[in-house]
Amino acid sequence: MNVADRATAGFRQRYGTEPAGRWAAPGRVNLIGEHTDYNDGFVLPFALPLRTVVAAAPALDGRCTVWSELDGEPVEFGAAEADEPGRVDGWAAYVAGVVWALRADGHDVPGARLAVASDVPVGSGLSSSAAIESAVLAALVDLGGLDLPAGRWPRLAQRAENDYVGAPTGIMDQSAVIRGRAGHALFLDCRTEEVEQIPFDLDGAGLAVLVIDSRAPHRHADGEYAARRKSCEQAAATLGVTALRDVDVTGLDAALARLDDDETRRRVRHVVTENQRVLDTVALLRAGRVRDTGPLLTASHASMRDDFEITVPEIDTAVEAALSAGAYGARMTGGGFGGCVLALVDADAADAVAAAVTEAYAERGFTAPGTLTVLPAGGVTRLG
Ligand code: ADP
Ligand code: MG
Repeated sequence: MNVADRATAGFRQRYGTEPAGRWAAPGRVNLIGEHTDYNDGFVLPFALPLRTVVAAAPALDGRCTVWSELDGEPVEFGAAEADEPGRVDGWAAYVAGVVWALRADGHDVPGARLAVASDVPVGSGLSSSAAIESAVLAALVDLGGLDLPAGRWPRLAQRAENDYVGAPTGIMDQSAVIRGRAGHALFLDCRTEEVEQIPFDLDGAGLAVLVIDSRAPHRHADGEYAARRKSCEQAAATLGVTALRDVDVTGLDAALARLDDDETRRRVRHVVTENQRVLDTVALLRAGRVRDTGPLLTASHASMRDDFEITVPEIDTAVEAALSAGAYGARMTGGGFGGCVLALVDADAADAVAAAVTEAYAERGFTAPGTLTVLPAGGVTRLG
């Protein structure tokens, strides 16, 4: 059964009636621009063809009940619980968080019955969290007839995740999931929050992106993330700038000369060069030179591996195997210490590259990777 039918079937089985509608939101992957978001820099994500679907109907008692095929136990809460971050915990916090963010923004949120099904892998770095938040947000806005222009949705969904769930994420995930457009990547300036749709016509160029789920166990990812963030902030303070975004590649050597330890210098070099790689990727895509972005992806990976030091053996193995098998470029995507790799490949070579990565994993005794060939898809939408 496809994901939309599973959401509908779950709804019928759980609530004994028909849903009033179904809303779908995709996962996302970041093409390039890693650890640049909290440095006020640039990112370039695109929405995936994998989606989370919420089947929903209003509930007259004003309460919310949510069921997910991932759990099976429905969770019910009223406005009072939603108004107190922490009262609803576990996965349903992502749903209660959206209700909370809407109410905090002054909206009269309707009670609802919700059933969630998803094809977005959970916890792999493809943003199943933004997908569930955004699908629920779209459902509640429609069911309640709320006056909330789509331009404000990413911020609200982000608040749900930051302030209700308590996960410190930037605006990238929700922006990509909500604003993604088929055949495009979303160029996002994390300082100004300006976005621009950049043509990313893989299909027209006979290309595809192979997404490889490394299945690497997350090793100390939270602590390492916090440490990277702190080094970047301290370096910006030492350099007398608001954020590392304010250092560009032409000023890099001079900036590095003012830093006194080698580790900080490497961290800064990653962020500064990565911002430039995003800009260079955007320029190539604007010129329709999709294949030529490959070396930038691979350079991004080397920078994450050697300068930012956030890769792990499974990830490096996947990148090397993909490149050896003919990928035009490959890099880890996401915060690091696990998660996914993406590779730019000829569409008709995607299976062979996936097989090569799987083989390289087997040789090293790693848990087999997940692989998926994708084209950039559209953002959150109501289904017919
Ligand atoms: P990612 O966003 O990379 O998949 P996160 O840790 O940010 O990983 O978010 C994953 C969490 O989001 C899950 O542990 C769960 O709490 C929640 N979640 C995501 N999708 C669903 C779903 N379909 N049903 C229930 N909970 C979900
Ligand atoms: Mg997430």
